[in-house]
Amino acid sequence: MSSKKACFIVISGPSGVGKTRFIEKSLKTFPQLSNTISFTTRKPRPNEKSANFYYFISKKEFEEKKEKKEFLEWAVVHNELYGTSKKEVERLWDENKAIIKDIDVQGFLSVKNIYPHSRGIFIYPPSMDELKKRILKRGEKISEEKLKIRLDRAVQEMSHAHFYDFKIINDQFEIAWRDFKILLTKQLDQFNLLKKSQ
Ligand code: 5GP
Repeated sequence: MSSKKACFIVISGPSGVGKTRFIEKSLKTFPQLSNTISFTTRKPRPNEKSANFYYFISKKEFEEKKEKKEFLEWAVVHNELYGTSKKEVERLWDENKAIIKDIDVQGFLSVKNIYPHSRGIFIYPPSMDELKKRILKRGEKISEEKLKIRLDRAVQEMSHAHFYDFKIINDQFEIAWRDFKILLTKQLDQFNLLKKSQ
């Protein structure tokens, strides 16, 4: 598996920074991109359906998959388990798709180790205050304790941003998206995946 040289773009950044919006817009703009659906033990949020971004599974099911070495990488994030399926990645590459995926810092470092040609884009919030507001606006009931875990983790994640190939501050989305789109275009071009119309 590690010999394959196909396009894998990892998006990281603190929870609540707006990564999902970048990924959704990327998938709409570039049909040659695809998102692999991760497995997680966290519970779905209101309006979140299985098989959109995640397959929601139990801890036992996750451990079984881990035992069977089904994950390309996995990590503990906010006390829950998250993992990328090897099979999904292979399937998408076989379909000649480029992968775009929201993975935490530990996951990115694992992917980069296996696929050195993968590229990481780190998204920063404009400030910690704004990040806190965005987390609270998401419609999920969140305790003070959980909020603190997320904000502490955000600081920790940002201290690893230097491992990434590119960094973008998501202050006003449309402005950040312009830069993001340029990066994606260049990456797809390098893998000869750019359609003439783009
Ligand atoms: P959330 O639960 O808010 O959707 O995601 C929390 C964090 O888990 C995200 O910021 C994302 O970086 C990380 N994450 C999501 N899927 C995966 C995965 O498959 N592997 C790893 N390592 N991290 C993931």
